[in-house]
Amino acid sequence: MNVDFFSEIYLKILSLFHFFDLEKILNLLSIVPFVFLIELLFVGWSNSSLKKILKPNKTVQTDLFYFSLILFNFYSLLVVLFSFGFFHLLNKGIKTYIGFNLIHTIENTYLQFIILFIIYDLVKYINHFIFHKSKTLWNIHKFHHSATDFSIFTRYRFNPLEGAITSFVKVLPFVILGGIETYVVVRIFSEVLSLMHHSALKSNWGLIGKYILVSPATHRLHHSKDPKHFDKNFGVVFIFWDRLFNTYSDENTKELGIPNNEFNKRGVVKDLFYVVVSFYNAVFLKIKKVFR
Ligand SMILES: [Zn+2]
Ligand SMILES: [Zn+2]
Repeated sequence: MNVDFFSEIYLKILSLFHFFDLEKILNLLSIVPFVFLIELLFVGWSNSSLKKILKPNKTVQTDLFYFSLILFNFYSLLVVLFSFGFFHLLNKGIKTYIGFNLIHTIENTYLQFIILFIIYDLVKYINHFIFHKSKTLWNIHKFHHSATDFSIFTRYRFNPLEGAITSFVKVLPFVILGGIETYVVVRIFSEVLSLMHHSALKSNWGLIGKYILVSPATHRLHHSKDPKHFDKNFGVVFIFWDRLFNTYSDENTKELGIPNNEFNKRGVVKDLFYVVVSFYNAVFLKIKKVFR
């Protein structure tokens, strides 16, 4: 360990307290209003997220809270605090020590892009699937499903612990395969789509939504409160993973949320810590079981 190592850590910690990152704010504000506008054009003012945000109910207030955590970079600080810096170190470690750059063995850059995009999305499908199937991880992910209405900002309704795990998993294919420049394009496309998925749009996008892309109707069903819709439509960008792994459903969604929803009542800060405590409690019980 040398002076550089410590100065890098010092700079990293300083950056966590950089709550007004103009570039980050502009990046977010260049995508989000675009989706608000599209939604407004298709569903009209009375059903729009903009109207909901001007007079927010409890669930929309939570969405707004998480959007502001991300907008003003509090989220990264919470990620580090709640994971005790573990995922930050892990991210740094894999980026430094792994870098096979395998994708560059393919010469055609278009093919490189398509392969990376498909693998990236498959990893996200698997990540999402595991967050539902593992009881320990469901303690974190169910918070995203506790939204009883969509406000576009529902896209940001994730506990920082989920953000930490997912961002580590998402970057893995690029670390192993290389082609990190593709990541920027993929992220923008994926971001616009995810915002649409959590809007008042309910379209199934016809054949495209049936076989290629995850449509707003498909993701809405993923948030359905009806138990017969549980564990369906895990796809993030491409719907063909759900077709392939038999988790696809195109039924109609009536109500959003989870049964016995304990969220949206105690207040946003209490809910934030409740998720963290219940996750570590579940982890602790698992460890105790192993060593018993
Ligand atoms: Zn889910
Ligand atoms: Zn969602």
